[in-house]
Amino acid sequence: MPQEKPLFERVALIGIGLIGSSLAHVIRRENLAGEIVVSTRSPQTLQRAEELGLGDRYEADAAKAVEDADLVILSIPVGAYSAVAKQIGPHVKPGAILTDAGSTKGSVVRDVAPHVPEGVHFIPGHPIAGTEHSGPDAGFASLFEGRWAILTPLPDADPEAVEKLTAFWTACGSKVDTMDPEHHDRVLAIVSHLPHIIAYNIVGTADDLEAVSKSEVIKYSASGFRDFTRLAASDPTMWRDVCLSNRDAILEMLGRFSEDLAALQRSIRWGDGDALFDLFTRTRAVRRSIIEAGQEVDAPDFGRHPEIQTPGE
Ligand code: NAP
Repeated sequence: MPQEKPLFERVALIGIGLIGSSLAHVIRRENLAGEIVVSTRSPQTLQRAEELGLGDRYEADAAKAVEDADLVILSIPVGAYSAVAKQIGPHVKPGAILTDAGSTKGSVVRDVAPHVPEGVHFIPGHPIAGTEHSGPDAGFASLFEGRWAILTPLPDADPEAVEKLTAFWTACGSKVDTMDPEHHDRVLAIVSHLPHIIAYNIVGTADDLEAVSKSEVIKYSASGFRDFTRLAASDPTMWRDVCLSNRDAILEMLGRFSEDLAALQRSIRWGDGDALFDLFTRTRAVRRSIIEAGQEVDAPDFGRHPEIQTPGE
């Protein structure tokens, strides 16, 4: 049900790719803002956003876009935060909420907090929703429906501002959790960052093989390989920045992963069928729990039905 009165008078969307444009759609559908101001780095993307009617106003200059906005949302690669925060920081009005959608949170606090003026409520956030598609055409209003949005408010955050941002994500269809940035980064390292790194790696390995031709890899991909290629098709800039911005937690989880992979390799070498069977039974139960939690659909072929959207990140 759309809000009778918008939650915010003016929302500035800085970055209008998959996440920014999905926000624009849902903000419009749910009447969450009196005015949507869109800003992005390149004139081409800004023009495309305008053609798609994603905002009410379009600004090439991010500093101008945030003026008088009572909610500012950064939806740009995390590697760009420091420069953009420096540019917009002095122009965000006191009392406004400054938040983001970035996939890492420790680096965001480190890069943005020094540029946040007194009186501005800086509350980092991360919607756990996405697809492998990018750009302003990729967005859709239901992206956040039934998905979690994680907020990582700093210890001195204003509870009222956190409540207002929680109301915003709830109106977007999300469920909201709060945690500290370090915990967020460790959780996301295992549920999101590692799966993407593993997918990039296996697809890269297949691409490098000489004994199996590229055309065979493509031709027989439905046997498993193609499930990795969806993750491995994700935006290279975004994932380069995620890897560099959450290095410690990712390296920790990769260490655990490598140990477990070595154990699995050993079970295969020594023909330990019981160990293999036990592991594969345990992992099957994990998928069942994900379906029961409503975070995946139990449709044949992994929900790859044209009319069913499978969740991304
Ligand atoms: P996207 O579709 O690739 O869009 C990126 C946006 O950021 C575009 O507006 C782009 O502008 C702008 N941008 C790129 N490089 C920039 C730079 N150096 N300086 C300023 N602006 C720049 O990305 P997205 O998928 O929406 O991701 C946005 C953020 O959400 C990222 O931090 C990502 O980690 C996070 N996130 C993504 C997902 C996902 O599944 N994709 C899920 C949750 C969170 P131009 O096109 O004008 O260059």
